[in-house]
Amino acid sequence: MPLKPPTLIYIAGYGRSGSTILGTILGAHPQIHNVGEIRHIFELWSTHDRPCACGASYHDCPFWRDLVNSPEAEKCRLFARNMERFLYLPRLLAGSRDTVEWSQYLECQRRLLLYARERSGKPVILDSSKSAWSAAGRLLALQQLPQEEVYIIHLVRSGLAVTESQVTKGTNRALEGSNKNPRGLALRTIVGWITANAIVTILTRYLPSGRYLRIRYEDFIDEPQSTLSKVAAFTGFDLVPVQQRIASQDHFEIGHIVAGNRLRFQQRVQLRTSSVEKQRTQLTGRVRALFWLLGGWLQHYYGY
Ligand SMILES: [Zn+2]
Repeated sequence: MPLKPPTLIYIAGYGRSGSTILGTILGAHPQIHNVGEIRHIFELWSTHDRPCACGASYHDCPFWRDLVNSPEAEKCRLFARNMERFLYLPRLLAGSRDTVEWSQYLECQRRLLLYARERSGKPVILDSSKSAWSAAGRLLALQQLPQEEVYIIHLVRSGLAVTESQVTKGTNRALEGSNKNPRGLALRTIVGWITANAIVTILTRYLPSGRYLRIRYEDFIDEPQSTLSKVAAFTGFDLVPVQQRIASQDHFEIGHIVAGNRLRFQQRVQLRTSSVEKQRTQLTGRVRALFWLLGGWLQHYYGY
């Protein structure tokens, strides 16, 4: 059991790694509220281009509509963009942060978490904003919030599977019609997968001890019971009721989560366990070769 129970559980890693389903299942615990990729709320508040999981815009969503007025949202969006990006990491690690902007950033995050707690009535927030280039420092930045006990779950999925998902289905933003797929999507995905996961792995040395757990998506869908037992031991929460619901093939409510996979619009989801993720056949030999050339070392490091 951890010394201090978590107040914030953060799913780190790269997109397309299964955080929507993991977050939904953990959010079924009576003390945990899953908010999805909450760091995008300020940006989506002003652009309206990707709705809440309930289908409504954030201005109309019954969970999020009272959060902030738009000028404040814009300020918080800019603070998050500046302070969480990869290039800010050296200052974050050196402790030489701009005092005024930094304290305003923390205040935005404090109020955001407070809002989610008050609105949900649950004390523990699960944030799956993960660790793309633009959010590389978020897992460390949140550690600076006073009163927060932040526990990091690093969710890793095979880089080949992630690349295939992105290349064959398109990006989440493109799937929702707010962007087109960028050029060079395969290469971008491979580099994104390497950098996001490598950054999290490197940053673990800067976390307090006992605050990091790495799990593989494939292990989660292959053996959800033992994987959730590890999460239970890590966080100190009794997940047996949730595990029983998985065993009885129950559906889980998704709720008002921010951004993430299109799966969120289904309202409820069931964990489909499988002994092996389907054989990867849809990537060209060239993309596979490129993946192994650039990311093979990290793929092996995670045991694939
Ligand atoms: Zn909603």
